[in-house]
Amino acid sequence: MVDVERLREIAREVISRDDVRQLIGYRQGTYGFRARPAFITSPEEVDQLIFSPACVNNLATYLTLEEKLPVPRGQEPDLRKVAVMVKGCDSRALVQQMEEKAYERERIVVLGIPCTGVVDMDKVEKRFPDVLSRGEITLEGDKFVLSFDGQREEVPKEELLADKCKRCRYPTPLVYDQLLDEAVERFADDDYSDVLELEKRSAEEKWAYWEEKFSRCIRCYSCRNVCPMCYCEDCVLDRLNPQWMRRSVDISENTAYHIARAYHLAGRCIQCGECQRVCPVEIPLMELNRKFYKDVEELYDYEPGTDAEAPPLLATFKVDDREDFIL
Ligand code: SF4
Ligand code: SF4
Ligand code: SF4
Repeated sequence: MVDVERLREIAREVISRDDVRQLIGYRQGTYGFRARPAFITSPEEVDQLIFSPACVNNLATYLTLEEKLPVPRGQEPDLRKVAVMVKGCDSRALVQQMEEKAYERERIVVLGIPCTGVVDMDKVEKRFPDVLSRGEITLEGDKFVLSFDGQREEVPKEELLADKCKRCRYPTPLVYDQLLDEAVERFADDDYSDVLELEKRSAEEKWAYWEEKFSRCIRCYSCRNVCPMCYCEDCVLDRLNPQWMRRSVDISENTAYHIARAYHLAGRCIQCGECQRVCPVEIPLMELNRKFYKDVEELYDYEPGTDAEAPPLLATFKVDDREDFIL
């Protein structure tokens, strides 16, 4: 587990550098056990920073948002670096973004967090629904320890651990300038048992399943906005001329949205799980993403976000590529 004092010491050094303008990390949220992103611009703010199993957000999303911000008229762009804290899964978003040339490696400073797992906040809130004051979560051995209102509760790690952590292949970041703790060995693997279960269903059963899920979608676009790989400057969903997808919330347009998004993320989704985490109506988006992820691994022996030098899977062409599917 990362030592917070060491984290702050390193962060202070980084934000004091002339070539760094901002450091993106975590700070405590305003209530309950939640942590939230912190945007640090001076050494005086560094004491806000924390790291705990409640630090679930993938901060890589903010790097591409930064790239999209317009420069106000009359001002020069600030080209100094942005520093960012990443866990193992989050670091894969950086690798994939760089593979796609979203920005240059030298534009960022990466503080890597070797990670032993984060909590699923829904599981925490179901178990402790009434904690409105600030509480803290730490990991001690194989237990999460929750401290709030002068109380201390211990819960076996397995019961609150996020599902993605139960199949984590890369707990230590794959890219970093500085690692904030000792590297963590892989402690889990992915057997795709959930996807295999879904694959057993007939086409009719699959359609009935997804029709029910998609009909609940309110098209808030939180899943798109939180996704580190959904960073097109001009998203097809927002276009009005031509309007590829209508704004109406109905099964037809909702289905079009989810199919477009799933295909756009094939070979790019790095399994951070943020889309499903933020969905207000609990649509199991990871089931779709993971089906594509499994297919890509089986068909192309490719795992997104693991090799910044590799060409993007579905954005390259070789003359000897299979093309028997072309009519
Ligand atoms: S998936 Fe791996 S790196 Fe990501 S939060 Fe879980 S244990 Fe940490
Ligand atoms: S976050 Fe959920 S409700 Fe919102 S657009 Fe995505 S799937 Fe639909
Ligand atoms: S689609 Fe979901 S799991 Fe995949 S990169 Fe985007 S937010 Fe993460």
